[in-house]
Amino acid sequence: MSTPKRVTQSIKKDVVSPKDYLNYDHRWSCEDCTHFKNENESCTLGYVTSHHLKRQQEHDFELGGKVAFCRFHEID
Ligand code: SF4
Repeated sequence: MSTPKRVTQSIKKDVVSPKDYLNYDHRWSCEDCTHFKNENESCTLGYVTSHHLKRQQEHDFELGGKVAFCRFHEID
């Protein structure tokens, strides 16, 4: 009998200093990105936005002090 495969979190989250989080006006969410389509909260590059939406990042930070950053984030 084999051991069932463990379900692990696939998205990588980075630790963010609470001091930095509170003191900087950060622009790292999908809502701040050139590729974000507000109408349906999608990404024009086709990436999944759910981990990088502002509300999710705020939730993740408040829960564990970590945020999932998108490597393709762009600001005009
Ligand atoms: S490139 Fe990344 S940050 Fe920008 S909209 Fe797409 S998923 Fe969001």
